[in-house]
Amino acid sequence: MTQALKQPETPAKQIPFIDLKTQLEEIRSHIDAAINRVFNHGNFIMGPEVYELEKELSAFCNAKHVISCANGTDALGLGLMAKNVGPGDAVFVPSFTFAATAEVVAWVGATPVFIDSLADTYNIDPKSLEQGIQSAQKLGLKPVGIIPVDLFGQPADYDALQAIAETNQLWILADGAQSFGASYKGRKVGNIGDMATTSFFPAKPLGCYGDGGALFTNDDELASIFKSLRVHGQGTDKYDNVRIGMNGRLDTLQAAILLEKLKVFPLELSARQKTAEAYNEALKDLVQIPYIMEETTSAWAQYTVCIPSSLDRGRLMSDLKDAGLPTMVYYVKPLHLQTAYKHYPTATGGSLPICESLAHKVLSLPMSGYVQDPTHITNLFKHVCNSYR
Ligand SMILES: *Cc1c(COP(=O)(O)O)cnc(C)c1O
Repeated sequence: MTQALKQPETPAKQIPFIDLKTQLEEIRSHIDAAINRVFNHGNFIMGPEVYELEKELSAFCNAKHVISCANGTDALGLGLMAKNVGPGDAVFVPSFTFAATAEVVAWVGATPVFIDSLADTYNIDPKSLEQGIQSAQKLGLKPVGIIPVDLFGQPADYDALQAIAETNQLWILADGAQSFGASYKGRKVGNIGDMATTSFFPAKPLGCYGDGGALFTNDDELASIFKSLRVHGQGTDKYDNVRIGMNGRLDTLQAAILLEKLKVFPLELSARQKTAEAYNEALKDLVQIPYIMEETTSAWAQYTVCIPSSLDRGRLMSDLKDAGLPTMVYYVKPLHLQTAYKHYPTATGGSLPICESLAHKVLSLPMSGYVQDPTHITNLFKHVCNSYR
């Protein structure tokens, strides 16, 4: 083993970054039974579990309508299709996010306008959004909507965004891919914005064993459009397609798996919260710990800190890995600097200083509902940092 050459002693056992294995061990028999039920009834497309899941998700987050779909990216795309977004339209998105948030805007031929983030919550900056709206207008684009992202699990500041949306007659499509289970001023993610989405990608807070996603809305008309778009734009008569849609359905098997995962989800959310609190307490004097707004909870998709500029992040990550502690960087490059997106406008017409600086200093620690020993993790972290003194 090459590792044995580098380290004479046994290489440190790696702590899992996201512990999906322990979760599966705990609920395996229920998952097996759920999969078997689907095999037995054989309704692999839009089987009863799909509708049952939509009902359960609706009860969980108090959204009137839940429309499951194939993945979190399609969910966003369906939202834009329902709003008839197209060429000449400007949709405002944070630059510090996963590519899917902006990708869907380009899908429909509209222009994503990149907005800067807040240094403390990592979420879209309302001030920068206002600047972005003006920039878009100067470019001759028509501002139509905002896709705020609840980055790392914390909802964006929706009250501030809603005020701007109302003034400018914009809709809000909340990208809750990372935040299902979180809440903002008493409202759960799914029940915020004109429409909201989530993703059931395995590594998300509520993940399945493949791809999956969902749309949420309290608007009856939007809900019926989503349902139609999800199945090729079908009308009430399924042989008359009334609009251009897509094949965007969630598999029955994934719905069956999600129904089982949803049962343990509340416990996992509190375990994530406990882990985050333990990390916060142990690391608050060493790094900038995540800031959660008042009356807001996070689903803790990621626990992300900012390291001081005195630390070399690459070296720190490599030393932590040697100590058995895996870390990740979300995100190395903001979207407005990426090859496919750099020709799109930004709020400032140029650089977005906060997200560019975040990209250099963020670091995410292991997080899931099954972190065994947070103290061990923070001790390893402290130990490696102290070794640089
Ligand atoms: C994961 C993610 C998506 C896309 O979800 P998929 O299910 O992978 O398509 C969209 N937005 C954000 C912020 C994400 O983290």
